Amino acid sequence: MTVSTAQRQLTPADAGQRMYALIEELYPICRSITGNGLRETLRRLQTHVPLQIHEVPSGAEVFDWVVPREWNIRDAYVKNSRGQRVIDFRKHNLHVVNYSVPYRGKVSLEELKSHLHTLPEHPDWIPYRTSYYKDSWGFCITHKQRQQLADDEYEVCIDSTLEAGSLSYGEFFLPGESSDEVLIACHVCHPSLANDNLSGVTLATFLAKHLQETRQRLSYRFLFIPGTIGAITWLSLNEQRIASIRHGLVLAGVGDRGPLTYKRSRQGLAEIDRAAAHVLKHSGKKHDLIDFSPYGYDERQFCSPGINLPVGRFSRSQHGTFPEYHTSADNLDFVRPESLAESFEICASILSVLEENATYLNLNPKCEPQLGRRGLYRAIGGPADSGVSEMALLWVLNLSDGSHSLLEIAERSGMRFAALRQAAKVLVEHDLLKECLG
Ligand SMILES: [Zn+2]
Repeated sequence: MTVSTAQRQLTPADAGQRMYALIEELYPICRSITGNGLRETLRRLQTHVPLQIHEVPSGAEVFDWVVPREWNIRDAYVKNSRGQRVIDFRKHNLHVVNYSVPYRGKVSLEELKSHLHTLPEHPDWIPYRTSYYKDSWGFCITHKQRQQLADDEYEVCIDSTLEAGSLSYGEFFLPGESSDEVLIACHVCHPSLANDNLSGVTLATFLAKHLQETRQRLSYRFLFIPGTIGAITWLSLNEQRIASIRHGLVLAGVGDRGPLTYKRSRQGLAEIDRAAAHVLKHSGKKHDLIDFSPYGYDERQFCSPGINLPVGRFSRSQHGTFPEYHTSADNLDFVRPESLAESFEICASILSVLEENATYLNLNPKCEPQLGRRGLYRAIGGPADSGVSEMALLWVLNLSDGSHSLLEIAERSGMRFAALRQAAKVLVEHDLLKECLG
């Protein structure tokens, strides 16, 4: 790496601040699994990363699913008999049930209530609700708002369209020296929710920027997709690419203050699973490692039995385990630049383990080579002058029989991957080790 590329590289703290600023910019947009809010978000991401926007027509059959009609919304409100907007989409886009069909009419309080969603246990929060695959309409309001609704005749307007169009997704491919790919996916289909959707979107964006600035061995494919249907659509249209994907990460919910969390792939012991576990173990930070389950974000699709990719998920607090999940309290106060910075740093470290992991062969395997003669072992009473840990040298020499990768040596020795990587580099320079290729 040259000095100029080092200077251009993002520090985690810079990345955290810039990710937070991008979350602020994208937060007001009313996104969904299709439509102009999703497109607008992808266009704004193009100012950071040259991603390609793909459009898949409504009605396209994708495995067992069909790409839905496109949903767009201009306005939605409920007015009382004095013409006052008592529920107003313009004040918060969570107020309308996402994918509500167009509706105009007068309704009684009783009928209106059958279309309202609230959170009695959090009376100041607005819930987030969707109705993608069932034609209906509704509003989400605070429980306090609901209690204030008087007996009246209400005018309801949902100025939406639900018609043939397309599903949009963003894709950015960054070629490396090898055709082996790392897949990084995030969902980009939620309206004004900061942690659930935007934190993952901005982390993927800034990891892409970071990788663009340095030459990589592996190729990277970034997907900015609507949850579930986007992953199914991409996999259905790109089945021939699946064989190139060697590792993958789904990024979701990475900006809150909760512990760093890695959810293993369905395979369980894939290299990505081991790299993530290694980085978290040595991070010194509070973290959780959890096993795969067929619930969560798009790891459900990437790890379905007929796909079975080594794709894990990186998150902080797990979805559904914190009260702010899918409510208006998942806002700009719920995500922190420091948490985003930490998530960026951990993910960048996991990727660098994947980049640098390799298997070597000890070229002097009959007893230990004489390290002292080569300046690699401390003279009696003096420190080694190589700057490399002797234990790292001994571990790499001992386990480099062509069948243990550096990551496996790190696991067995309890040493940091970076120390072993440095030891391997020095041993190669001294002709004691060679990389096993292929
Ligand atoms: Zn969600």
